[in-house]
Amino acid sequence: MSSFDPAKATADYLSILTPEAHAKATAYTQGGHWLLLWGTVIAIAISWMVLKSGILVRIRNGLAGKPVRGVLAILAVSALIEGVLALPWNVYSDWWRESAYGLTSQSFAGWFGEWALITAINSVIILPLLGGLYFLIRKAPKTWWLWGGLTVSAFFMALMVLAPVFLEPIFNEYTPAPPGPVREAVVAMAKANGVPSDKIFIYDGSKQSNRYTANVSGLGSTARVAMSDVMFKKDADLAEVRAVVGHEMGHYKHNDVMGFAAVFGILGLVAFFLIDKLFPKVAALLGARDIQGIGDAAGYPVISIILAVLALLATPITSSITRVAETNADKFSLERVNEPDGLARALAKTIEYRAATPSKLEEVLFYDHPAVGNRIRMAMDWKAAHPAPVPAAPVAVPTAPVAATVP
Ligand SMILES: [Zn+2]
Repeated sequence: MSSFDPAKATADYLSILTPEAHAKATAYTQGGHWLLLWGTVIAIAISWMVLKSGILVRIRNGLAGKPVRGVLAILAVSALIEGVLALPWNVYSDWWRESAYGLTSQSFAGWFGEWALITAINSVIILPLLGGLYFLIRKAPKTWWLWGGLTVSAFFMALMVLAPVFLEPIFNEYTPAPPGPVREAVVAMAKANGVPSDKIFIYDGSKQSNRYTANVSGLGSTARVAMSDVMFKKDADLAEVRAVVGHEMGHYKHNDVMGFAAVFGILGLVAFFLIDKLFPKVAALLGARDIQGIGDAAGYPVISIILAVLALLATPITSSITRVAETNADKFSLERVNEPDGLARALAKTIEYRAATPSKLEEVLFYDHPAVGNRIRMAMDWKAAHPAPVPAAPVAVPTAPVAATVP
């Protein structure tokens, strides 16, 4: 084993893909960075149009004596206009482009139905929340951002607890791994790592996306690991399944969902504080003379514009935080499951939607996972440092293809 060269092994895994496939992955990934910028520009342009149309001010004046109804009507109308105007962009970025790159097989009708449903659910959830924020701004004009930030964080944490129970089953079917080698391996790993073994599911992710992926969602008693059926359509062998589930168990054991919720809660608080400070200046800059301060819901497009810019600026922060958590989940998988080659094979299959060897700057700014080239190298370095089978692995399982056992 002394002849094992991690750099060469990494290069070998990367060369599983043809140079053309790597070039396509790079085009897709770098195009995605530009989508972030264009998406922000379009969101700002739409909010600006809604603001300049004066329609929200007319609704406010029309419902002057009815503050609650006035705020809700303004928010509903602006959500409707923004939703309709943003639809062509969403069709392009979420469906057309994904289809063009072969990353989804979903029909337009299927995509559109889900988009309409998500938009409807979002409206039902977010409109009352925004209405509550305007109530807070009027009741506590100096400290609303603090109470508002805390309320929104608590709300999103509740949403994360409920998502696996109420939201995710609307869009996909989650089934426990069927009996067979996959289930046996996963249950053994769960037992060895103190994860309830009834919390590992396979879902029909291929309905929306051809991405080879797995995830952890939920909090506390609703937390669970889910593997997309794409993994099995792309012939995941048992070593891959073990490595990937090991990675997801790392997220579970590290309470990453809770950690992300806390980080996003803090960022939300900072955003609200900045909105409070920036609103008068941005409103003046946009020439929004009819807006009567931040508590006036007709000024909601001004808040949208500030939020869009802040979200773009926060991208390097949020990606860097998740990137650290992803590195730790890879380490957990290597330490507890010890399948460096399984992990490398699985990672090579994600290159098509996450280019493998970006520049360091690109990785820091945009990558919410470390680049696959670096992740495979970490796995190969681990392999070089641990040449003998490590007894910590819960069961020795042969790496035979198991695709046929999974629907
Ligand atoms: Zn992960």
